[in-house]
Amino acid sequence: MMLGYLLARAGIDVVVLEKHADFLRDFRGDTVHPSTLELMRELGLLEEFLKLPHSEVSHLTFQIGAEHIPLVDFSHVPTHCKFVALMPQWDFLNFLAAHGKRYPAFHLHMRAEATDLIIENDIVTGLRAKTPDGDLEIRADLVVGCDGRHSTVRERANLVVEDIGAPIDVLWFRMSRRDGDTEETTGHIEAGKMMIMLNRGDYWQCAYVIPKGGIEGVKREGLPAFRARVLELSPFLRDRIDEIKSFDDVKLLTVAIDRLREWHRPGLLCIGDAAHAMSPVGGVGINLAVQDAVAAANILAEPLRVGTVTRAQLAAVQARRAFPMRVIQRMQVIVQNRLLSPALSSSARPKPPFVLRLIMWLPFLRGLPARIVGVGVRPEHVRTPERAA
Ligand SMILES: Cc1cc2nc3c(=O)[nH]c(=O)nc-3n(C[C@H](O)[C@H](O)[C@H](O)COP(=O)(O)OP(=O)(O)OC[C@H]3O[C@@H](n4cnc5c(N)ncnc54)[C@H](O)[C@@H]3O)c2cc1C
Repeated sequence: MMLGYLLARAGIDVVVLEKHADFLRDFRGDTVHPSTLELMRELGLLEEFLKLPHSEVSHLTFQIGAEHIPLVDFSHVPTHCKFVALMPQWDFLNFLAAHGKRYPAFHLHMRAEATDLIIENDIVTGLRAKTPDGDLEIRADLVVGCDGRHSTVRERANLVVEDIGAPIDVLWFRMSRRDGDTEETTGHIEAGKMMIMLNRGDYWQCAYVIPKGGIEGVKREGLPAFRARVLELSPFLRDRIDEIKSFDDVKLLTVAIDRLREWHRPGLLCIGDAAHAMSPVGGVGINLAVQDAVAAANILAEPLRVGTVTRAQLAAVQARRAFPMRVIQRMQVIVQNRLLSPALSSSARPKPPFVLRLIMWLPFLRGLPARIVGVGVRPEHVRTPERAA
């Protein structure tokens, strides 16, 4: 959506396909980081964006066993907004779509599912999509796969995937929010269990972390045991825990970390999770996808305006974005392997690893995770002009 918006704003004809009828997927993340807020400011959209319902998180505390670790402090990040805006991603996408529609070159097709690529002489020249009104064939100078971690586009393009592996899955469910609940988005790890709770206004979006493939074990233990585990992490949910009526109320989200060896082939580029699936650790995948979109627009808008993009220009997008992606994936792997996996497989109460203790003892170090998560490495800036209004 961000790439479609930026290209249409630069006067390039764009078709954005979305397979669903709306963006209301409750498994979308909610974090809009300082780097993305900075881009909204550069686009002149920040003020209006922040009028949408959201909460602002400037500090994050995580409970590991008995210790509360003040892990992240965004108050010194080098951006105008020194907080993460927690906003449901459907609001963010609807906002971008509404702004995209201001440009005549922006065409959004909902309920249009890309099913196959059109490939001629080894060059991708378009794609086929399924819609309620029948099949659609779209010819394009460039097809961009931004269809997430189960990307059809990358699969049809035969791009080689390197699986990095993620030892966790997530059970995703809602609990109502009540008067007297904390406002804070929180995380808590104990022996054999972990949960993150996102404040979504009138309800908590809960992410209960299990070892990969552990869903069958959870179901075998039964619903009362699962509810009890949730309560051990968040006892204040006791008065509403029976809102989880059955395992139908609990969705399994599989976590993946992978990356394409090459993000492109002639006529096609992948960005976001389609190029590099991100784990929820750090809650940065949305922002990384947005950064990819901005880099792709910066590099490709002018070539697209004057003609067809070359392979070297597509490679330049990967060259620009691969390093920041690798840094974040590395961080996610370290957190998964050194903190999450040991805690989930142990019966002893977890203790914060040494590096987190350092952060606890030396407050100025809290700026470092804030910088990596909130801004990332090699932050992008909007370089595309506004040509069409
Ligand atoms: C459990 C979990 C929690 C997470 N929480 C967070 C978080 O809080 N913050 C964060 O920053 N990151 C989070 N992430 C990571 C984040 O979700 C992704 O990194 C990010 O959404 C990637 O954005 P994207 O636009 O590349 O793909 P997606 O957000 O997956 O978007 C892909 C879009 O393409 C559509 N689509 C798919 N296939 C087709 C098709 N064939 N044709 C047409 N449309 C199609 C989908 O409907 C979807 O709208 C989480 C990940 C997981 C697994």
